[in-house]
Amino acid sequence: MTIYNFSAGPAVLPHEVLQQAREEMLDWRGSGMSVMEMSHRGKEYMSIQARAEADLRELMAIPKNYKVLFLQGGGHLQFSMVPLNLLRGKASADYVNTGEWSKKAMGEARKFGKVNEAASSADRNFTYAPGFDTWKRDPNAAYLHYTTNETIGGVEFGWVPDTGNVPLVADMSSNILSRTYDVSRFGLIYAGAQKNIGPAGLAVIIVREDLLGQAAPNTPTMLDYKVHADADSMYNTPPTYGIYMAGLVFQWLKKQGGVAEMERANIAKARLLYGAIDASNGFYNCPVNQADRSRMNVPFTLKDAALDGGFLKQADARGLLQLKGHRSVGGMRASIYNAMPLAGVQALVAFMNEFAKQHG
Ligand SMILES: *Cc1c(COP(=O)(O)O)cnc(C)c1O
Repeated sequence: MTIYNFSAGPAVLPHEVLQQAREEMLDWRGSGMSVMEMSHRGKEYMSIQARAEADLRELMAIPKNYKVLFLQGGGHLQFSMVPLNLLRGKASADYVNTGEWSKKAMGEARKFGKVNEAASSADRNFTYAPGFDTWKRDPNAAYLHYTTNETIGGVEFGWVPDTGNVPLVADMSSNILSRTYDVSRFGLIYAGAQKNIGPAGLAVIIVREDLLGQAAPNTPTMLDYKVHADADSMYNTPPTYGIYMAGLVFQWLKKQGGVAEMERANIAKARLLYGAIDASNGFYNCPVNQADRSRMNVPFTLKDAALDGGFLKQADARGLLQLKGHRSVGGMRASIYNAMPLAGVQALVAFMNEFAKQHG
């Protein structure tokens, strides 16, 4: 039976990548060592990390005046590192509140400065992306932070705000590399790896150079972007195996035709799944505003929550795994990241149609 894993994260990785990692596990390309056993200062590992960075730069067309950092602490540590490094003596920062992840970022930022909630979708239970014309921005904000894709609520911005001279900061943990972004529009982009990049624990940071070097006094060394930028992410021992796996995923992405090709595939997968939900005559329901529906995380409920258990059990038996929704919203959530093939979504839709017929 083919297994399709719809986990929100840690999430499915490309099968070819896992196979390659298995083949190279005991002896990386004739070195006689596993990547896990290599000195991070040795030429073998240095080449792995350099290649990973070069491939990411190529995939996202990252301009030369941006640094790429591979750090630890996942997405969460960035909630603290962003204000510590980017407030730069200013009194406050703008945050757009679109759900669970924005709220966490805001909560952490409040420890270091004033947070101005420039916009919020709380009024409709975080089911939409607030229109840019409604944002109440502070022209003196140190930066503006938003979450490009709310992994739990399933809300994704289909557009990039123009914040002028105020640096734009984006948590792209769950949609990085899934669609084309013009990196030059951003001051800083960060992403925990375990959705679209690789194993948990690693975070990728893309930061414009002029924003470095102004961390708050007493910032711990390990939390200063400049320290890591100056050391090519080798100030201390980097999460080497995670970076190696991320590098394999970047090579896989290039083989698939890059980010534009991924985006085309992601649009097709999302269209198929939302189409099935919308055509179910209310048996399935997605609460998210049409225009702001995530291409990565598709939350939906069944018309009768008493059917949830049966749905999950039958799905499991068919190899459709980890569809249970987040504990805060209930229902189902199908995460269909880059590594989820179209065939997986087709299998899910076929099952959903059958289940609705049985119980409709
Ligand atoms: C998963 C996720 C995070 C948190 O990542 P951790 O690695 O668990 O810290 C942050 N932001 C978004 C949008 C996420 O999806």
